[in-house]
Amino acid sequence: MTQVTLETISNLAKKRGFVFQSSEIYGGIRSAYDYGPLGVELLRNVKEQWWRSLVQQRDDVVGLDSAIIQARAVWRASGHEEVFTDPMVECRNCNTRHRLDKLEDPEQCPSCGKRGTFTEPRQFNLMFKTHMGPVEDEDNLVYLRPETAQGIFINFENVRRSNRMKLPFGIAQIGKSFRNEITPGQFVFRTREFEQMEMEFFCRPEEADEWFNYWVEHRFSWYTDLGIDPDKLRLRPHDADELSHYSAGTSDIEFLFPWGWDELEGIANRTDYDLKQHTEHSGEDLRYFDQETNERFFPYVIEPAAGATRTTFAFLIDAYTEEEVNEETRVVLRLDPRLAPYKAAVLPLSKKPELIEPAEKIATELRRKWMIEVDTTQSIGRRYRRQDEIGTPYCVTVDFDTLEDHAVTVRDRDSMAQERVSTDRLLEYLSGLLDR
Ligand code: ATP
Repeated sequence: MTQVTLETISNLAKKRGFVFQSSEIYGGIRSAYDYGPLGVELLRNVKEQWWRSLVQQRDDVVGLDSAIIQARAVWRASGHEEVFTDPMVECRNCNTRHRLDKLEDPEQCPSCGKRGTFTEPRQFNLMFKTHMGPVEDEDNLVYLRPETAQGIFINFENVRRSNRMKLPFGIAQIGKSFRNEITPGQFVFRTREFEQMEMEFFCRPEEADEWFNYWVEHRFSWYTDLGIDPDKLRLRPHDADELSHYSAGTSDIEFLFPWGWDELEGIANRTDYDLKQHTEHSGEDLRYFDQETNERFFPYVIEPAAGATRTTFAFLIDAYTEEEVNEETRVVLRLDPRLAPYKAAVLPLSKKPELIEPAEKIATELRRKWMIEVDTTQSIGRRYRRQDEIGTPYCVTVDFDTLEDHAVTVRDRDSMAQERVSTDRLLEYLSGLLDR
């Protein structure tokens, strides 16, 4: 297992175009990041795998894409306006602010090291405020959503009716959320703008425990199936005193980050809290009517809530490997091919037109199915290194023999084994390796 530091991974992310500091040319804005050409592909692939697993490959979950700005009443009903807070303390010595429940020592300031300098904790609401329309007054105050879940609850009846959904069923959503975190940090782990992947699974109250266990297991396997080392994953049930205001039980899936175990995803039993609250506040009856038993009741909800950006970061860390090859260090991102930004790189051995031309032709053919890079710069060895570092599973080398035998060399990223493959079989050959 390679132990990677935060610095190594953020340097690689910048150098290879995965993640850049936002507004960098203006000195950077803290806690916001931009995803570069490779990062955006990786992030999209992570979301795509989640969507396939939770929506497209099932018949009991459907998707949704709700607005980021919703009626303020939503956040009153959900409880966020009142209790979506973190306890904040300020150091009287160095004036830095900290989130009390995340401090290693609640008496000592992590910035200046002084003890006993904190103010009394104050509850700080994490929702970003803005105004809808030209008048900036209290009546026009709106929030940027701090979770995607409420957009699902308020559309429960729309989705149920329009798609004739019967319990148990789920509604899934991927999108941006915003939290004015007191202490963002650890690169993209905790940012103020981030992306979530959430699913609300509605079921009969008596079946909630069973579905909770089902989703915990399902979500855990999603990470290991996509290649995360099971030794770097663990499940941690919340203690009663750390449960969110809506939860009857939560288990976190945690990953071993460079600084220790930390949350990737929370799976919560939200009970009937949200549907009841919205019924009470909106006056719309959000109970479910069971035609077979003639009962009307509030379903319970099991929610797997993951961070898309945070999970992408974990995949990057987990994939990072250093190994000795011929007395040189080789850096390899052992990303699952489904997540890798490029599925293959086509590398003409020389810049001569007679090689560039067939290389371009091969790339055009392969692009019918995958993201493909053509790289013509530098020595072949350096080009292999670069592809290893960005996690490209296969390199296809076009050499002078190709002109005679109409075959190319396919190199495997992980084993570095090479195989000669005829160009007219190449698409089929790579499909055998890449299609899942
Ligand atoms: P914490 O207690 O660490 O602030 P949380 O338990 O409140 O987080 P949830 O509300 O359960 O987080 O959010 C679900 C998921 O959304 C988290 O597991 C995480 O992956 C992601 N997430 C939450 N906040 C952030 C953030 N500030 N930056 C990046 N991802 C986040």
